[in-house]
Amino acid sequence: MTVSTDTGLKARVHPSPNHGPRVPGVPVDMVILHYTGMTTAEAALSRLCNPEAEVSAHYLIDEDGGILQCVPESRRAWHAGRSFWKGRSDINSRSIGIEIVNPGHENGYRAFPDRQIEAVVALTKDICRRHDIQPWMVLGHSDIAPDRKEDPGELFPWDRLAEAGIGLYVQPFPIGSGLFIQSGDRGQPVEALQSMLALFGYDVGITGEFDEKTRLGVKAFQRHFRPEKVDGVVDQSTIETLHALLRKLPSLA
Ligand SMILES: [Zn+2]
Repeated sequence: MTVSTDTGLKARVHPSPNHGPRVPGVPVDMVILHYTGMTTAEAALSRLCNPEAEVSAHYLIDEDGGILQCVPESRRAWHAGRSFWKGRSDINSRSIGIEIVNPGHENGYRAFPDRQIEAVVALTKDICRRHDIQPWMVLGHSDIAPDRKEDPGELFPWDRLAEAGIGLYVQPFPIGSGLFIQSGDRGQPVEALQSMLALFGYDVGITGEFDEKTRLGVKAFQRHFRPEKVDGVVDQSTIETLHALLRKLPSLA
């Protein structure tokens, strides 16, 4: 039996049983990028297709740029887990998940090869076009689950995706001195920071206290948008980069 893929790109089908129905009336309006975090592509694929693992993604992209489709886009794949963005928590119902082969932080995190990134660019572009997904809704797993996840990580070249017209990105402001807000701080500046992170989409409470949730949100933000230094401390570069990104959002997004 020939099974076709949803994308017009060259891709092979490798079905996973791990999926369910989408929720009627909930549009697909996000793309979530992951790394596999396993030593080999084969190990990752076998896990994504193992019914006992109860995890999956719509696509897997190998280091050589090969694209596999594991779950039809019309079905709800199980890639996001407990997560949150802009007030929404059932991210699986509204997203397409792409697993990018990389051993990850626990197994020898390394740069993503050019051919792999070219495939990520082509596939993400194709998905965004077909589902009319906005640039600011192309995110990493760590953005939507900052307390649990680090993927696709600070080596992932979001700047290259942006050059290809994918995702929301600004050149990060240079790291210099001045303005530090960090764990334990409290008051109006902390509240302002939390409001900005929450407005952007992160799961951060507006409490006026720089708590652990805030620190993890800052780290996730840095990992994606200011990857040179991921320390959870808000310096001038972090805050200016966040400002610049917010200015690019349409007011009601
Ligand atoms: Zn992930």
